[in-house]
Amino acid sequence: MIHKGDEIAQDLLLKPDVCIIGSGPGGAMVAQRLARAGARVAVLEEGGFYTKDEFDMQEATAYPRLYQDRGNRASADLSIAVLQGRAVGGGTVVNWTTSYRTPDDVLAFWREREGSLLTPEILRPHFEEIERRLGIEKVDLEDTNANNRSIYQGCKKLGWQVDTVSRNVRGCLRTGYCGMGCPVDAKQTATLTYLPDAVAAGADIYADCRVRKIEWSGSRATAAIGELLHPGTQQATGRTVRVEPRVMVVSGGALNSPALLLRSGVDQGPVGKKTWLHPVVAMGAFYKERVEGFYGAPQSVASHHFSRRGEGAGFFIEAAPVHPMLASIAMPGFGAPLRGRMALLGNVAATLSLMIDGFGEGEEGGTVSLRPDGAPRLDYPFGARHYECFRAGMKAIARLHLANGAREVQSFHLDPVVIRSEADIGGVDAAPMGPNLFAAFTAHQMGGCRMGADPARSVVDPRLRHHFVQNLFVIDGSVFPTGLGVNPMESIYALASWASTHVRDALS
Ligand SMILES: Cc1cc2nc3c(=O)[nH]c(=O)nc-3n(C[C@H](O)[C@H](O)[C@H](O)COP(=O)(O)OP(=O)(O)OC[C@H]3O[C@@H](n4cnc5c(N)ncnc54)[C@H](O)[C@@H]3O)c2cc1C
Repeated sequence: MIHKGDEIAQDLLLKPDVCIIGSGPGGAMVAQRLARAGARVAVLEEGGFYTKDEFDMQEATAYPRLYQDRGNRASADLSIAVLQGRAVGGGTVVNWTTSYRTPDDVLAFWREREGSLLTPEILRPHFEEIERRLGIEKVDLEDTNANNRSIYQGCKKLGWQVDTVSRNVRGCLRTGYCGMGCPVDAKQTATLTYLPDAVAAGADIYADCRVRKIEWSGSRATAAIGELLHPGTQQATGRTVRVEPRVMVVSGGALNSPALLLRSGVDQGPVGKKTWLHPVVAMGAFYKERVEGFYGAPQSVASHHFSRRGEGAGFFIEAAPVHPMLASIAMPGFGAPLRGRMALLGNVAATLSLMIDGFGEGEEGGTVSLRPDGAPRLDYPFGARHYECFRAGMKAIARLHLANGAREVQSFHLDPVVIRSEADIGGVDAAPMGPNLFAAFTAHQMGGCRMGADPARSVVDPRLRHHFVQNLFVIDGSVFPTGLGVNPMESIYALASWASTHVRDALS
């Protein structure tokens, strides 16, 4: 059953076997596995429950409804725009479908540094099942749009590694609206797959249900305390929720899961520390021909040519859809200059460089703490490593588009660097770098409740059980000890599938 917040007329007291807080890839997977194993499961999700008929392909509807903080989430100094999903299905409702397995060298790094148990062999059956269930398949080059194909062609001309990606879709009509909720149910979100499976096996899902804190005593979590919300206004209905499970699973995603633990006083270990973002810088390439990056699969090509980890931060290159609201916020300038750029929107290719954070010696990443109202506050200071990586990413993007015949490439600095030939690329090195001097984004939040063998360095143990509160698990992207270097959704599903066995063991 899926219960909506404003349809529940009384306070709730539930006593399931397992309470799962959050319904993104982490929470949805655990719900399916545990419900199918016969456990009584309750999923509490702050976001609303929406179906394809409500996805109207309008940015103005989608961002307030389906994104954290009504689409306005940002780092504390406002230097990084934080795109993060908030709905039954979590980020899968709005994400761009790019699907990758966790790289083997990342798993090896986690084993060596943090005592992780994960190997490619352990995760393989989980990935295989997920790829079947979600229809994950590699895209044919003919099915890419011009926005993505420009990356492919530019990289090929320069001899750089580039390939099409895999996507979790069935019967995709390539409308281009993945980020606003798929209007034709082609995207195989958690809302269409693992969550209905869980419901069919008896799980209850409570939408519009915000968990304020977890009560705990000694080494046991005793209750999740929350409130029901009106889906439209996201204000409390006045009805409260108290869930007393045998096992508690926190799957609120990075930023939100550490904030929930901090609000609850479950603050042993480095809660909120080492939060990773794959920080993104973007460039706009202006072509004589139409690009129409608002249509077609938003992401279908990626280059991992510069994806080194460790010495000097590496980055990977992907496309971003070019919808007017997102583009007008990302592109620099106001008034006439911005209007000039927006008038050319149909001719712009938007390309991203995603920094692979978390692998540098002594790299601290971001920190989640609490705002006065208990909401997460994210501080993510940039350092020399970031600026070096951002500049390298911008220059690579400029080169690949020049190679592909772009008329002009512009950076998203406050005062944009305009590049028409190789001779202009040095302008990127000369441009001032600092918070809010250029546009930066994140759609891949990770870490903050990192897993590991050492309680001083991690929040949950290698099986994702909390080091001190024994019936509490954290199962979502917040447990990653580093960034991944690839888009995180499929890794989170696989990790959750594997960790579900440990939740089952805790129940018995
Ligand atoms: C625009 C966009 C594009 C993306 N594109 C891709 C892509 O192409 N490929 C890819 O791999 N990844 C992509 N991602 C990232 C990916 O979607 C996320 O990494 C993934 O969804 C995270 O999974 P999770 O389970 O950790 O948390 P989430 O998916 O964030 O789910 C957590 C859920 O918990 C809920 N929650 C949080 N706190 C509470 C609370 N206190 N009470 C109740 N509920 C709570 C939240 O509302 C949310 O719905 C994209 C993300 C965005 C925003």
